[in-house]
Amino acid sequence: MASLVAKVDFEKAYDTVSWTFLDYMLDRMGFGQIWRAWIRMILYSSRTSILVNGSLTNEFSIKCGLRQGDPLSPFLFLIMMEGLESLIKDSVRSGLIKAAKFDDQEFKVTHLFYADNVVFISDWCRQSLDGIMETEVENFSIHIGCSIGAVPFMYLDLPVGTNMNRISGWIPLREKFIKKLSGWKMKSEGVLPNDILCVKVGNGRNTWFWLDDWKGSGTFKEKYNRLYHLETNKECFIADRLVNGEWKWEWNRAQIGARNTSILATLTTKVLGERTIWCKLIPRKVNIFAWRVKLDRLPSRSNISERGMHLEALNCVVCGHTLESSSHVLFECPLALDIWRSIRIWVDLSLPSFKSWLEWETWFEALRASKDMKNKLYVIIVVSLWHIWRYRNATIFDPNTVKKSFLFDSIRIVTFRWICSRNSCKLNWNLWLVKPL
Ligand SMILES: [Zn+2]
Repeated sequence: MASLVAKVDFEKAYDTVSWTFLDYMLDRMGFGQIWRAWIRMILYSSRTSILVNGSLTNEFSIKCGLRQGDPLSPFLFLIMMEGLESLIKDSVRSGLIKAAKFDDQEFKVTHLFYADNVVFISDWCRQSLDGIMETEVENFSIHIGCSIGAVPFMYLDLPVGTNMNRISGWIPLREKFIKKLSGWKMKSEGVLPNDILCVKVGNGRNTWFWLDDWKGSGTFKEKYNRLYHLETNKECFIADRLVNGEWKWEWNRAQIGARNTSILATLTTKVLGERTIWCKLIPRKVNIFAWRVKLDRLPSRSNISERGMHLEALNCVVCGHTLESSSHVLFECPLALDIWRSIRIWVDLSLPSFKSWLEWETWFEALRASKDMKNKLYVIIVVSLWHIWRYRNATIFDPNTVKKSFLFDSIRIVTFRWICSRNSCKLNWNLWLVKPL
């Protein structure tokens, strides 16, 4: 059966509510004079001011819209939507819209409403349905004044039209499931085997930024609802927002405002902080680098080819031997082994040889040492990784700029500088060279 499904996203639904129409709706629905006056009073008495360069403008009254976060607003909004509901019913009665019929001809659907989520369903009324042309869809959309969307889209937090053969299609369902289960007070643990529910969430390409549960602490959609409302692509992945170590936001306003900016700062720290040890002693870009190592998101040749890009060679750029994974470059390549040997002697610790970030992190978390010493060691390790990776990049893009022999010295200089300047502590350079920890 061919149907027309139109999902309607109201642009700034709450902000554009017309008060006159709301009052009209209240009247039509039989609310009394006094009640309507109360509602009008609430609406018309609201005043607001704007923060311009940190100082507030004079208050002014507003002419439309409902306040976000006000518990009354959703109800008023529903009453507004009642108007649309009646319009649809009218249109069906007068034959403007044909309801979509399901197998038994009794059951007909024209629309699904949930707050400002609206999906219209109707029979596709043009005659020729064979091979629907793109121009046809275009004409239609122009005719009804909507833009053309595409599947998959989210309706009531669930994906519609997603390819369910893919892991990402199941993530929202899984999250819902886990939420339901977590409220399920059962004595025995593991009502459902965890490995059935557990799909791999972790790399930036299959983890939804706003909709995925962050280590069981809830979704960002819930936690940072104000920001979520400003997001233009609600179904973006982590990889869409964190591109090459830089945050890339797409808000539906040019300015998101001071309050939202500070909420955003909390969020970004949270993302990076949860994924790695967010270290104050090293610059942002290096923290992000560490985070990417941890998630295996560095553009190593094996990662690039896994993404479907064709590469002439997949061998390690530095040694030319093995498949170039980031673990190989950073931990197992002869060059890396050289560096780690020097580091081991320098820090004077029985540093095991690590094969991956996970191995190093596990070891580091279990290490019993003072906070100060651990901080310094962390800086040394991450800065070393960063140097190795930069050396690898330079080998490809700019072969004459870095010298292998200078790498270890550079690590010692850079760590010294960063720890001194970012910790405002005085380290002795000569001592640093012989006994950093
Ligand atoms: Zn290598």
